[in-house]
Formats: sequence, structure tokens, C-alpha cells
Amino acid sequence: MAGASAGERLIGWYGGVAEKNLSTRPDFVRNWLMLGFQAMRGKVHLAPYGDLLPSGNHGYQLFMDSVVGALADFDNAVVTSIFTPNEIFHALGARPVTAEAVASFASGAQAEGGFIAAAEGRGVPETYCSYHRILMGMATSGVLGKPRMLASCSVACDANNLTFKTLGRFWDVPHVYVDVPYDVSRDSVLYVADELREMGRAAEGAFSRKLDEGRLREACACSERTMRELAATLPTRRGRYLANTMTIDMMEMLDLHLSLGLPECEELAREMRRDFLAASPYEGVNLVWAHVSPYFLESLGELVNTSQTSQIVASDMMFESVTAGEAWFDASSPYEFMAERLVRSCFNGPATRRADCIEHLARETGADAVVLFCHWGCKQTAGAAQLIRRQLEGAGWPVLVLDGDACDRANCMEGQMSTRFSAFLEMVEKRKEAERHGS
Ligand code: SF4
Repeated sequence: MAGASAGERLIGWYGGVAEKNLSTRPDFVRNWLMLGFQAMRGKVHLAPYGDLLPSGNHGYQLFMDSVVGALADFDNAVVTSIFTPNEIFHALGARPVTAEAVASFASGAQAEGGFIAAAEGRGVPETYCSYHRILMGMATSGVLGKPRMLASCSVACDANNLTFKTLGRFWDVPHVYVDVPYDVSRDSVLYVADELREMGRAAEGAFSRKLDEGRLREACACSERTMRELAATLPTRRGRYLANTMTIDMMEMLDLHLSLGLPECEELAREMRRDFLAASPYEGVNLVWAHVSPYFLESLGELVNTSQTSQIVASDMMFESVTAGEAWFDASSPYEFMAERLVRSCFNGPATRRADCIEHLARETGADAVVLFCHWGCKQTAGAAQLIRRQLEGAGWPVLVLDGDACDRANCMEGQMSTRFSAFLEMVEKRKEAERHGS
């Protein structure tokens, strides 16, 4: 840990205590981690970061509230895959939480190593997505209690479904799986809408509550307005200083899935637009980030975090379905509305849809380059990487494909990654400078 800051050393010690006690005292580890999570939640409310825009701080607060709230009330939680619509659960007063969010918390506490070892000790292969290895380790070690149910969908990957099936059996709770056809058609939407109706019935059983269709329609209407607001932020990002960080971008992306359908999420999207419209001009390099980010790697983060030289201007996971064309269904048909979002997600179907989404984001925001992060164990992204790179380069954007791990420190060659990232940024900066001077 040579060169680590005092803050990092403190978190390292905190995570080490969790790891040391994991195999013998899972209840202690749960309480220990919750203590830190609650303290962090209090901190982001009491002492917001002065260098972020108000929407950045509110996105951070919303993320902490929703994930810490779900972990503290796990008996009222549903563990979902990231693209599974949550309006049904919000209408039931349940707390959705995803593998990415839970694993990011463990990673933020520098406790991921113990959970990964626990999962691998139970036969989960080393090549499996690290988000899911951490979730499996937290569950099987007894640190995570038992949620009411699990809900996953085939978008974006198989890892989701293997994990959810296994955990459904392990916890002995219902698991609902929504299979999303690749074809973008009304028939696909109607098919998925029926599956979501089934999910609603399963959720009523699991939570022993009646789903109020009026509340569900309200939640969907709120999602519809939020998605419209979010889409409207795209042109406002062009040439503006967004004062964000890799962490904030990841958290806002998770907010816009976990809390979609809640008024606080709608307010976040509205505040983003207000903030960006009033933001100062930006002369640095604008990047579209594709997929998740290794936000805890400081040497990478410092190249783009609240920086005047480079920033992340948009990410494909945040905009995966808002860029997908004219909708067929609105919130007055809630199941069809949610189903259409899934069917039209750029993470559903062939990789060209994802490449088209990234290209659209780059055009709308006037981005200078694209970074595609290939997270360890994510076959979807690894398989799509070269196709996305070719399409984007063909359309004129420099692309960096960066391999690493978004939540397992031990699996990242930080030095090599930051050298490649910084050389890429330098090249894009020079190119931008040359374009500015017309050479
Ligand atoms: S990172 Fe890839 S493998 Fe892991 S959950 Fe996301 S899509 Fe699936």
C-alpha cells in the first residue's frame, strides 16, 4: 500500500477487519459494514462536496439512501439485475437493490477480497463477473440476510441469471426471470409485458401486499417524465463543465435504474438539466464512457474527476434506453411501457445496437473520444468491444478499449491502465488542439 493516502489506509484497515472476521463472525461483519455505510450516508448529507454541482451531490445522496436503506431493511428488499424495471417494487413499497450496487459498496469498503474468496471457495469460477462473485460471497458467507425475492432479466447477461437462480435456491426465496426477445417489435413488448404481469403477481405473494395498479401507473408516469428529462440533458452536456467524477457518474447511472419511478429520481434528472444549462464552458476533452467504471482506482480517477482537462460527458449505461427512438406505449399501459424499455435497451440484442447508442451519445454531446471499459468476466462487453471500436473509429472517434475490473482491486493492473489511459487522453487532447487550429 505504498503511496496510499491516510483515507485509503483507514478504509484498508476497516475492510481488513471485515475480511478477518468473515468466516467466523458474519453477523459482526454485517454490523461493522453497516456502521461504515451509515456513517458515509450521514457524511454525504451533512458535508456535500463543494467541487460538485448540486445534482452531483444529490445523485450521491440518493444512491446512499437507496442502497444503505435496502441493506438496512433487507427483509423488505428485492435483489434485481440492473435493467429489471423497478416500478412494480416501488409501487409495493419494497426496496430494490442490484448486484452492482451491493458489490460497489463492498469494494468501496475495501472488503471485496474476502467475499470473492468466499464465493470461489464455494466453487464460483474465477472467470465469473466480479460483481456477481462479490454478491455470491456476501450471500453465502451469511453477511447479507435474506431478501423477500429476486428478480432478473436476460438483459444484459447470463451471469445475472446464473447468480439469481443459485441465490434463489440458497435463500429459498422466489426468483422471477424475465426473458427479453432480441427483436424490437410490438410482439416482443407484449410478450415481456405478460412476463412483468407475472412478476407483479409473484411480488404480491412475496411481499404479502396487494399491488395498487393506480400507484403503479403513477410510478410509470414518473419514469416517463424522468426519461424525457434525462434525454433532454444530452445536448446541455455539450461543451459544459459537468464537475463530475467516475464515482458520481456510476452512482447517478445506478440511481436512474434503481430509483426510476420515484419523484426524487425525476428531480435528479431535472436538476441535472438545470445545472448543465448554467454550467461554465469546457475546453477539455469530453469522453463517452461505455460500460461500468473502476472508480476506486485513484490514479485513473484523477485524470477525469472534476478536471479541467478531461471529463466523462455521458455513459451508455445511463442512457441505454432513452436514445432508442419513438415509443409505442406510454405510462397509461404500465406493463407495456416497462416492457418496451427493456426490449429497446441497447444492451438487448446485437452489439451494433450498443455501438449505435454510443455513437448517438457522442454526436449529441459533441464528445471527442470514447472509452470502452471491459470489466473482468463480462463476456458481453469483451465480445462486443472490437465491433464497437471499429464502428466508432469508422465514424471518426478515437476509442480506447481498457481492460480491468470495476470492483476487484486485486484484479487490476492499475499502473498499466493509468499509463494507457493518460497516453490516450494526451493523444485526444493534441488532436483536439490541432482541430481547433484548423491543422
Ligand atoms: S458486468 Fe457484464 S457480466 Fe457483469 S453483470 Fe454486468 S453485464 Fe453481466
